[in-house]
Amino acid sequence: MGFDRLKEEPLHHDQHRADRPAGPVIDPVCGMTVEPDEARSRGLHSSYQNVDYYFCARGCKLDFDEDPSRYLDPSHTPSM
Ligand SMILES: [Zn+2]
Repeated sequence: MGFDRLKEEPLHHDQHRADRPAGPVIDPVCGMTVEPDEARSRGLHSSYQNVDYYFCARGCKLDFDEDPSRYLDPSHTPSM
């Protein structure tokens, strides 16, 4: 028998990748909720140690870029 009818098509369910946040994320600088897509489109996005971060405003991104570890320290409390 030469043909293999039972060969299944793999389902393409990989639409949502794990490295892309599905919903709102927290601005690590001020604690505000940010939509990743919107933040990215406005350039309010940084990558640090292979993790993506999103910001509500340019000031927050600049603060973060200056010293990312400060805002990622568990003892840091986001505030406006
Ligand atoms: Zn912010």
